[in-house]
Amino acid sequence: MTGRLSRRALLAGATGLMAIPALAVGARRARVVIVGGGFGGATAARYLRRAMPDLGITLIEPSRLHVTCPGSNGVIGGLGPLSRLEHGYGHLRSRLGIEVVHDTVAAIEGERRRVRLGGGQWIAYDRLIVSPGIDMRWNEIEGYDEAAAQVMPHAWKAGAQTALLRRRLEAVEDGGVVIIAAPGNPFRCPPGPYERAGLIAWHLSRTRKGCKVLILDAKDSFSKQALFQEGWKALYGDMIEWVSGANNGRVVRVNAAEGWVETDFDRFTPALANIIPPQGAGRIAVAAGLADAGGFCPVDPVTFESRLVPGIHVIGDACIAGEMPKSASSANNQAKIAAAAAVASLAGQGFGPVKAINVCYSLLAPDYAVSVAGVYEVADGRRAAVAESGGVSPLGADAHARKAEAEHAADWYAAICADAWGA
Ligand code: FAD
Repeated sequence: MTGRLSRRALLAGATGLMAIPALAVGARRARVVIVGGGFGGATAARYLRRAMPDLGITLIEPSRLHVTCPGSNGVIGGLGPLSRLEHGYGHLRSRLGIEVVHDTVAAIEGERRRVRLGGGQWIAYDRLIVSPGIDMRWNEIEGYDEAAAQVMPHAWKAGAQTALLRRRLEAVEDGGVVIIAAPGNPFRCPPGPYERAGLIAWHLSRTRKGCKVLILDAKDSFSKQALFQEGWKALYGDMIEWVSGANNGRVVRVNAAEGWVETDFDRFTPALANIIPPQGAGRIAVAAGLADAGGFCPVDPVTFESRLVPGIHVIGDACIAGEMPKSASSANNQAKIAAAAAVASLAGQGFGPVKAINVCYSLLAPDYAVSVAGVYEVADGRRAAVAESGGVSPLGADAHARKAEAEHAADWYAAICADAWGA
């Protein structure tokens, strides 16, 4: 794969921040509050500290351990335990002096610049960074609600849902069909459903006879499509079938109790249904008035400051970042930009456009991966891909190249997690 080193170098060094001395607002120290300790929020905390050693930084996150979605398709396919995806906040707290509060933000008052915790306490901020990820849009697929997700898991937030889908997969018998319902755009991790199809096929092809993976898609094309289809064929023959939206692939209705899934014209009763429903910005962002009618949050593409509520930056899956995909890689880059923009704003300085990158590896088997990368600039008021930047792995590459990409995927995971949660 060409350009590998430069991608890694970019990841490590993107948007290097200059340290700015401590700032006071009136008699007190300036404070940035961060909502969410996932890829966006944790990275923002680290880079704020790097930029301003004496800044007050409060990170609010309900979980004591963040379980990453990257790597979770591998857990479903049996490549390792869920525990290998867990990241704590000890480094941020004890090494970087970030105040980590394990609670949920229940309300944001943009005008009064404060947030209310689930426990009732108010915390004031000078700038707020919001990175709550996504929430499911229940019942947009008729019958698919939180109860149905206990029978037909989405596994689109890592943790209990991932473990449930893994257990349900282990119960599939010879000849069983697994359905993956993939949503329309935009959604978290555009290549994710297709990576999952490959790793489920990998598991079933080794442990069962005559199983199939049927992807019912709301879309007519998908990320890295030619690479996925080439790899599926080479690795699994006809075991994986993809049905586009135009070919009646969109799932419109499910009945979890009876175990069926319907498109407009067909009903399926699979051994296992993995329903990935339409999504919107995390609930708190919507409640705070940060989202538009489409369910995600419009932002200034230079600073990631909300277009709807001043003083608040929205990053990661929750924001609308033009052509940047909703990925951990994007969230990590956007966090660095928002941190730099927040610090510049506190210092009364201007902030100009910075390029951002995304790189995304997908496994089709433990030693077979493909990737896509892109560079995004601000053009015509939005984040747009720089022409001729990035690209995808070549079609027709040999097994060594695919194995090397799988190794780079592991390196990428280690690097980006260290960049977010620390060593
Ligand atoms: P998250 O990382 O989800 O973090 C959000 C955090 O906010 C959570 O910890 C949550 O608890 C917290 N939160 C929510 N609401 C509140 C509240 N009210 N108060 C306080 N905290 C709150 N991306 C890649 O780049 N590469 C991959 O290989 C990849 N693989 C993926 C595989 C799968 C199966 C899936 C589903 C996704 C994958 N992604 C991948 C996408 C990636 O996981 C997301 O894009 C990324 O996590 C987005 O970061 P975020 O900060 O927006 O959200």
